[in-house]
Amino acid sequence: MTSTDDSGEAVVYDLDPDCTLEDVEEGNYYHATVNGVVDYGVFVDLSDSVSGLAHESNYDGSYEVDDDLVVKLTEIRENGDLSFEPAEIEDYETVEVGHDYDIADAGELSDAVGETVHLEGEVVQIKQTGGPTIFHVSDETGVIPCAAFEEAGVRAYPEVEIDDVIRVTGQVDERDNALQVEVDSLDVLTDGDAENVRERLATALEERAEPHEVEPLVEWPALTQMFPDLQEVAKQLRRTVLESRPIRVRHHADGDGMCASIPVQYALERFIQETHQDPEAKRHLFKRLPSKAPFYEMEDVTRDLNFALEDQARHGQKLPLLLMLDNGSTAEDVPAYKNLAHYDIPVVVVDHHHPDPEAVEPYVDAHVNPYLYDEDYRITTGMMCVELARMIWPDITEELRHVPAVAGLCDRSKADAMTDYVELAESEGYEESFLRSIGEALDYEAHWLKYDAGRNLINDVLNVGNQDGDERHRELVNFLAETAESEVEDQLDAAMPHVEHERLDSDANLYRIDVENHAHRFTYPAPGKTTGEIHDRKVQQTGEPVITIGYGPDFAVLRSDGVRLDIPEMVSELNEEVVGGGVSGGGHLVVGSIKFVPGMREEVLDALVEKMADAEIDEALQSTTVGHEQND
Ligand code: MN
Repeated sequence: MTSTDDSGEAVVYDLDPDCTLEDVEEGNYYHATVNGVVDYGVFVDLSDSVSGLAHESNYDGSYEVDDDLVVKLTEIRENGDLSFEPAEIEDYETVEVGHDYDIADAGELSDAVGETVHLEGEVVQIKQTGGPTIFHVSDETGVIPCAAFEEAGVRAYPEVEIDDVIRVTGQVDERDNALQVEVDSLDVLTDGDAENVRERLATALEERAEPHEVEPLVEWPALTQMFPDLQEVAKQLRRTVLESRPIRVRHHADGDGMCASIPVQYALERFIQETHQDPEAKRHLFKRLPSKAPFYEMEDVTRDLNFALEDQARHGQKLPLLLMLDNGSTAEDVPAYKNLAHYDIPVVVVDHHHPDPEAVEPYVDAHVNPYLYDEDYRITTGMMCVELARMIWPDITEELRHVPAVAGLCDRSKADAMTDYVELAESEGYEESFLRSIGEALDYEAHWLKYDAGRNLINDVLNVGNQDGDERHRELVNFLAETAESEVEDQLDAAMPHVEHERLDSDANLYRIDVENHAHRFTYPAPGKTTGEIHDRKVQQTGEPVITIGYGPDFAVLRSDGVRLDIPEMVSELNEEVVGGGVSGGGHLVVGSIKFVPGMREEVLDALVEKMADAEIDEALQSTTVGHEQND
């Protein structure tokens, strides 16, 4: 600082209220306000914390409290006391002085416990507790809860809103191994100050959201061509965590859906833990739930939306991003997406069901599906998501090497790469028969968990993030797989004698089973899997093209081998042709399920069989993902 400007005119500094001793210099002129008059002089304030004495020997005249004047700082004593003298200058220029903060990093406060720090960042959550108000503040390095107390349960700083850029001064506290800042002062930054911080944060966020480059687990160009898209999704998910927007995963409630969602959950939770000081963040920012139907049902979207809006109202959270895994690519998902579109809820889909991109893409931010690369279901969602999880948090690779093989076996992937995946799993100590058992156990647990994510149980079955070692894992998986198998046996013992056979004009075998009346209900296996198991036996027995229909009062599950079906196409034709049938459904090309109104079952099934009889024989076409469509 100098006391004259370039033109030689005197400079008088005007300090911000938060300026400190660090911001003043002997010999400079300052704007001051009288705060007290005593016999020997007047006390003047330059800012909230900078004040001192102008001795009466240094001036003539008199002053009163609140008078504004210009003073010269004549001395800064060792004890910090300041001496001033009033200055009589006519021509001067005023220069504003802001306080130069030493801004601390939210993510690096562990060495600052007990110290007073300044933070600048964006408010990402405001939670009112029974005591203080907790502002979650995000800067370039992390997110820290800042507690401001007004009165118990009363909102502090009511003017502050989510997304505001603020400056906080407070003391760093450690409680239950978690850091928090006790707020002394909190200011909302505006205009240029806010812009500067926002720009800084945006640049840092882009960098921190950058996903990791990973080497694919196996050499497989069909999958690696999808890496750029998966990288984009990884980046969006990391950015979502950094913005403290919750992520809600909806996944197909089957083996592949679990193999897709658990690695992603694991990776995101690690990243949340790294970037958020609040130990509760993991729970608030990530939720995973299975979808019983092979699409996003109205019931599910209504629950999700309701929870999201409640979290927003009660916990001051942002609305979530929805991540659809092994689900979400079809026209059947669109009504739910339309519902979400009324709110700020981004949707990201990673799926391998036969997609309807034209219907879906207007409603989703990202859509990754092998069919969009002229590939197919053989690249399962679990295979894609293990790579996605590694892009988010590469350190979990060690625990995931067996997962793509499980995913592929669950969905009966016929990919050449399956050999490599199984070898990879074998090198980790998982033999193929055991990998199959894990898949069976996952399906079995998914069935009984119904609408529950079953986090710890599923982790134990898949052996990801499992603390207690391999022995229990083996025992648990073997028990579940054996139980599942014997329940399938019981179901088929009852059902098989009721299977009806006819030979279609095309020479294909058609098998029909009334799963409502000739199989146990509300147990394992459900109608979809029951039909699949019957179908598999018939394929084995005949070695010929086989179509199997398992039907209930208002639904039918379809399986085919060696027949060129297009189930989504058939569904839309049936819907037009069977007037009043109320036909809907879909799935993969040769595996799927349809729904109809109960009173039109005969008409719908007759029309369906007619279409199947017309379908061409194609011995090369094998059944794909049996057990994929569910009807409970
Ligand atoms: Mn799948």
